[in-house]
Amino acid sequence: MIDLRSDTVTQPTPAMRKAMADAPVGDDVLGDDPTVIQLQELAAEAVGKEAALFTPSGIMANLISLLTMTGRNDEVICGSESHLYTAEVGGVGILGNLFMHVVPNEPDGTMSLTSLNNAVRDQVYAPRTRVISLENTHNRCSGAVLTLDYVQQVAALANERGACLHLDGARIFNAAAASGLSAVELARPAEVINFCLSKGLGAPVGSLVCGSQAFMAEARRTRRMLGGGMRQTGVLAAAGIVALTQMRERLSEDHALAGMLATQLAEIEGILLDPDTVRTNIVIFDLSPSLGIGARELQARLKERGVLISLSGSHARMVTHHMIRPSDIVQVLEAVKQSLREEN
Ligand SMILES: *Cc1c(COP(=O)(O)O)cnc(C)c1O
Repeated sequence: MIDLRSDTVTQPTPAMRKAMADAPVGDDVLGDDPTVIQLQELAAEAVGKEAALFTPSGIMANLISLLTMTGRNDEVICGSESHLYTAEVGGVGILGNLFMHVVPNEPDGTMSLTSLNNAVRDQVYAPRTRVISLENTHNRCSGAVLTLDYVQQVAALANERGACLHLDGARIFNAAAASGLSAVELARPAEVINFCLSKGLGAPVGSLVCGSQAFMAEARRTRRMLGGGMRQTGVLAAAGIVALTQMRERLSEDHALAGMLATQLAEIEGILLDPDTVRTNIVIFDLSPSLGIGARELQARLKERGVLISLSGSHARMVTHHMIRPSDIVQVLEAVKQSLREEN
């Protein structure tokens, strides 16, 4: 099977498995797992923040970040296509008592500055806007990369209005690879950023919340409250260290493959896709109604031909990652052509 459902399907590399087996560990709730400490230091440095906290998942990292940044009667502004709003079971609203104020996402993953400015609230009769949350790269917006200029403008707008910026940077290193800027630069305008080790970086488990020392002391309490404090976590953190040190540089290979895939998909009759929108490792496309089949049917037909893809809303989605080779892309394109030729 060629698995393009997500970059989360990546398996740990041999170096990760070895590091996991050899990792010195301790009780991380007591703060003395040396491998976790090392990972947290590396992570903080990678995004230019003072401190970091290891969490079991990206969703818990978002929850910890946002619950720690807010109090009662507060709201977070997030995009209509954000992972936070569309894919986390409403956790920050339901578990966190945090009002989710949704602003439409543009296809490029931004929310317009005008919409954001109109959305921020500080009147006595509304929840108070505490946080604006951005996503970079933007998962459901074809892995779009937010420009540093845009992120800075949103941070300035937030600060002017008494709010602050949270960055869901699950794939921040993809944004770095695609923009040529460092993750430190991309994260600088944000008070808090979290990123995933378990996507394109290939680690089996884990995310990190990154921010100031003082913030992390509170975030550690929030993690504990959510049941995310873990014990001999060094076995997992060890894979994360390999992910951060060995897997970042190669992300541009995934982008090159996705670009190649997008360009050639766009040449197939009936596939609706602008390859210029594909800047990272996520390819999202539609099928022309004239083909008589939708994305779900294409998904089923591709599966019979050994290719797994996912759906993003009603769109078809393919994600490249370190287990996909150029020769796989050739096979995928052939399978797509055959699937579209099949009798309806
Ligand atoms: C995957 C993802 C998450 C959540 O990560 P999990 O580890 O799957 O919980 C959060 N935000 C974005 C943008 C993601 O792509």
